[in-house]
Amino acid sequence: MSTDTASIKSTTPPISPSLFGLTKDDLVEIFKQHDEKPYRVDQVLEWIYKHRAGSIDDMLNLSQPIREKLKQQFRFKTLSKVTIQGSEDTTRKYLFKLHDGRYVETVLIPASKGLYGDKADRLTACVSSQVGCAYGCKFCASGLAGLARNLTADEIVGQLMMVEELSGQKVNNVVFMGMGEPLANFKNLEKALDIITGQWGMNIGARHITISTSGLAPVIKKLADRPQQIRLAISLHGATDDVRDKIMPVNSKWNIEELFNSLHYYKEKSNKRLTLEYILIKGVNDSLEQARILAKRAKGLKALVNVIPYNTVEGLDWERPDDEHCYKFRNTVRDTGVVTTMRIEKGHDIDAACGQLRLKQESSEGIIKAPIKA
Ligand code: SF4
Repeated sequence: MSTDTASIKSTTPPISPSLFGLTKDDLVEIFKQHDEKPYRVDQVLEWIYKHRAGSIDDMLNLSQPIREKLKQQFRFKTLSKVTIQGSEDTTRKYLFKLHDGRYVETVLIPASKGLYGDKADRLTACVSSQVGCAYGCKFCASGLAGLARNLTADEIVGQLMMVEELSGQKVNNVVFMGMGEPLANFKNLEKALDIITGQWGMNIGARHITISTSGLAPVIKKLADRPQQIRLAISLHGATDDVRDKIMPVNSKWNIEELFNSLHYYKEKSNKRLTLEYILIKGVNDSLEQARILAKRAKGLKALVNVIPYNTVEGLDWERPDDEHCYKFRNTVRDTGVVTTMRIEKGHDIDAACGQLRLKQESSEGIIKAPIKA
């Protein structure tokens, strides 16, 4: 695995870029090349992000020739809705089709109570960063069929635009915890972050964005060097190398020591609160000894610990410990003074574990061969 691309074999098929994937600076450059006035850039951005135009033709204060030029060079929407599961006051899961026939999932979570320290009335969107994933964490459906490709910046931004359009609600919290390892698609992630946080763009504050990573230590440092105060969540799931090795293949590339070195660097640079995610799997990583080591590591970073009882994934044999043991594990960490939450998965009933819906769809179409039971 290389740090940036996670050994991507397939590339995105050539297709005209979408306006959703352009930063303000990109548009200024493009309009300059066409000898168009700079104020036109603001008009285009207002149509996209403020008025939520449905097409380039809707941009009525642009002249017909400018609209034609834009249409020749750019696509508009990049995703089409396939299904929505869930209802308005529960977790909703969206399956979107991409231009090349692949699928991505996006989840809307209302009232993310206490999640990553946020207020209860926030509407959180959980977005995908890749189709599939190369990292193969043992509990995760997204990695079951490997990596198909990176999502482009416009496909990342497009997920947020689509869920806002379809739900009629404004997203005010974004978590990169859907399909894919966001830090393995860092170039496109950075561009998408610029568009999502730009005041001219989706205008969502960096403090309301959380990136979840399996632990790509060198890229964590790169993220720390960005000026924006993005929050970071680490899929830790094992407090020692021997346990983490069983669950997270990425640990053989960057072990716990390297990972925590990068986390300390991140903490020093950004001083943002880190979250250590810990999925509890029966008989694998749920010993109280692991809880004690986890607590010690979290304390050193002043990190929050989020304990997540394992959610069953079709095709995988892991089991969730009983509730009593989950509470015991949680209390062992919490009693050391570490802020500890235990999240009961809201989307348990709608294939909310990342990647399951897309896996079913692509398996049924024969796009991938996945170990899904009939
Ligand atoms: S948990 Fe994240 S990094 Fe691991 S396989 Fe799933 S999508 Fe990839």
